[in-house]
Amino acid sequence: MFGSRPPIVNRWTHFRLTAARQAARLLAATLFPPRCCLCGFPGDALDLDLCGVCRSDLPWVDEPSPRVVALRFAPPADDLIRQLKYHGVYANARVLGVLLAQAVDERALPLPRLLVPVPLHMARFRERGFNQAAAIARYAGRMLGIPVAPGVVLRVRDTPSQTSLSVAERHRNAHGAFAVANARARRKLLEAGHVAIVDDVITTGSTVAELESVFLDAGAKKVDVWAVARAART
Ligand SMILES: [Zn+2]
Repeated sequence: MFGSRPPIVNRWTHFRLTAARQAARLLAATLFPPRCCLCGFPGDALDLDLCGVCRSDLPWVDEPSPRVVALRFAPPADDLIRQLKYHGVYANARVLGVLLAQAVDERALPLPRLLVPVPLHMARFRERGFNQAAAIARYAGRMLGIPVAPGVVLRVRDTPSQTSLSVAERHRNAHGAFAVANARARRKLLEAGHVAIVDDVITTGSTVAELESVFLDAGAKKVDVWAVARAART
């Protein structure tokens, strides 16, 4: 249930881990033992770079919502995301991706067949060198056994940063910002049927709403939204 977090266990009940995947996971945990990214103590679970204390202190989202959102965009989650996004602390993608996968797992809902991270415009991608949503999606997808398809949709308009805009401006700003990459990508969405959009932070939801309509137009039947954190509406 929401509100009370279960204790961390090293076995993920709903996860569809094959024997090979499970072996790879154990090997990775031996070679790169998880360490708390906030305090430096050893991690509490095989895949999670957080200790039990820091994990329980995270700003968890408690109210149920149709969208899967693990945390509030508040300390220390906001710093973990900012460090990843603006300072290239790529290791944070793993902890954020695993936390997102755990939040999805707790819902025990039907899982999508494809994860699509919110794309960056090519100019922004070149400047940053990576897409933080894709990095998070890769780890979440690995935990849940769902393929990630970062290239199926493109951001065709280099929209200004959403943070300085009003709600109405954000909706206008997101409109027409995305397009399915090509016929192959369209077929992939159609074949998957059920897809989930993955983002790092959700604010008004206008970006994911726009993407959702692009996916439905392309033939997807069901589109879920997964985000690591939710910022307060402004
Ligand atoms: Zn810690």
